[in-house]
Amino acid sequence: STAKISEKGTKSSVTFEDVAGLQEAKVEVMEVVDFLKNPETYTQLGAKIPKGVMLVGPPGTGKTLMARAVAGEADVPFFSISGSEFVEMFIGVGASRVRDLFKKAKEKSPSIIFIDEIDSVGRTRGQANVHQSNDERESTLNQLLTELDGFGPNTGVIVIAATNRPDVLDQALLRPGRFDRSIHLELPTKAERKEIFEVHLKPLKLAPNVDREVLAQLSPGFSGADIANICNEAALIAARKKKSAVEQEDFMEARDRIVGGMERKSKIISDKE
Ligand code: ATP
Repeated sequence: STAKISEKGTKSSVTFEDVAGLQEAKVEVMEVVDFLKNPETYTQLGAKIPKGVMLVGPPGTGKTLMARAVAGEADVPFFSISGSEFVEMFIGVGASRVRDLFKKAKEKSPSIIFIDEIDSVGRTRGQANVHQSNDERESTLNQLLTELDGFGPNTGVIVIAATNRPDVLDQALLRPGRFDRSIHLELPTKAERKEIFEVHLKPLKLAPNVDREVLAQLSPGFSGADIANICNEAALIAARKKKSAVEQEDFMEARDRIVGGMERKSKIISDKE
């Protein structure tokens, strides 16, 4: 994921144009943009604006990108934190970081808080995790629930969380008034991979033989992050060969490397089992 830590609430320059494919998710997420931009439309009718939205999808499908695009489109500050950052914290630190983050976001409202990898703090309570004391994880999770319940629905802060493990989430997170909406991001289809290639080919200097259709065809199962990776790797390969433009064969070589990397990774995983 791209966002590590951004507690300063910087404005995001990402827009929906940077997010290729994901048509259905975009439509749902646009509603969130409208909540931030035009809250009166909803509040004047007595509606409560949702506080939390859960983005669910496999790694690299653009969850962080989408959250940044919401902030960019609504032109509001973006505060982010990753659940995995809490893994090695001392007792109480996670909870106070969560409290701080919400405080800052409320001061800068309307704003977005993005919590990446929420499953690392939001696992069903009482489940052991080898990496971390449960006490710390649970106190962070409890603080998060307290914060979510503690601000009114119309304060202008919307919390977007991301996970690729919806199956392990503590159901308390998904109750009404918390992350009660889920938006699913899927791995891209061939047509969508082509669109994602378009986005990431744009900054490159390309040889005329680069064929987007073939690139999309030959990358089944790849995520948006994998495609971004191929494009950059291809440019590095071409540069190393002192070429003046990136050629189709450079993309093929980059693709083979990335496929090789994935196979090694899955071999390591299966060797462990
Ligand atoms: P993780 O679950 O690993 O945190 P993620 O779903 O948050 O992953 P991102 O971090 O948003 O994925 O994606 C990584 C990068 O991959 C993005 O910054 C972008 O360059 C590229 N990418 C992913 N999805 C798309 C997409 N739909 N369109 C364009 N680029 C994409």
